[in-house]
Amino acid sequence: MIPAAFEYHRPKDIAGVLSLLKEHGEDARVMAGGHSLIPMMKLRMAHVPHLIDLQDVGGLSGIEIGPDTIRIGALVTQYDLIAHDGLAQAAPILREAALQIADPQVRYMGTVGGNVANGDPGNDMPGLMQCLDAVFTIEGPEGARDVPARDFYEAAYVTAREDDEVLTAVTFRKPFGGYAYEKQKRKIGDYATAAAAVQIVKQGDTCASAAIAMTNLSDTPIFSHAAGAALVGTTLDDAAIDAAVAAMLGDINPTEDNRGPVAFKIHVAGIILRRAIASAWSRA
Ligand code: FAD
Repeated sequence: MIPAAFEYHRPKDIAGVLSLLKEHGEDARVMAGGHSLIPMMKLRMAHVPHLIDLQDVGGLSGIEIGPDTIRIGALVTQYDLIAHDGLAQAAPILREAALQIADPQVRYMGTVGGNVANGDPGNDMPGLMQCLDAVFTIEGPEGARDVPARDFYEAAYVTAREDDEVLTAVTFRKPFGGYAYEKQKRKIGDYATAAAAVQIVKQGDTCASAAIAMTNLSDTPIFSHAAGAALVGTTLDDAAIDAAVAAMLGDINPTEDNRGPVAFKIHVAGIILRRAIASAWSRA
């Protein structure tokens, strides 16, 4: 399939992007790596008379590691995340997750901004960013605003970002403790049947804090506060892990599709979360 005809714009700065978005309204969409949007246009599932390519917009490609926080520009690719040794040291869960996205060809093009802004429940970065309690910086006609990743997703492909706004960066506190990103997929290059992002802080033998988010098990990523809370104050004995899995299962709402029926997805979600908790605990 080839996409319908469109006009191609390549502004040099955010002001240029915002002015094109204002001028063309619903007829315009920004494009970052194009690895979700272009296939949708080819399938004629996205109608984009004005395509605004972000690739020449300056200031969106940096990875900044400060003493307490990490800031990732919207145009940083999944390959960049994997290749950045400083980031792998400061927040190793990002490399672990990025390596499980698609294949190298997609990872060279797919961006962090596109992955989190898309609103596709199958994308891996939204749940990861919820686990890290990241904040998304969004710029629009009224200026910049910050939206927590945990408040950003409203439904499949519906987010807190307005059509005339652009996501410019993702920021989160440097994580500490144990981490894991576990993903079950049918084959290399596939989206998750179920995936879990887990960060755990251990004090002595006890879990001091835990953050858990799940991917592709509802029409949005699911940050399960109750699952994390079930681990806190425990030694992660079997009862605590059972309680965390039960809490997570209470928060997700999978539907049947070509990755399997609901009962199978619930089963896989439980196994993936158990693996992620065990891995994060062993690294904590
Ligand atoms: P684009 O395709 O350019 O844009 C996607 C959407 O986000 C569009 O609606 C666009 O308007 C919007 N957008 C982009 N950037 C911004 C911004 N800065 N501000 C506001 N809106 C913006 N992803 C996974 O997470 N896991 C997978 O397993 C996975 N498998 C894949 C397999 C294949 C074969 C392919 C083609 C893709 C796969 N992806 C997967 C998606 C890929 O990893 C990209 O992250 C994804 O395409 C989005 O990034 P992008 O830069 O290509 O966004």
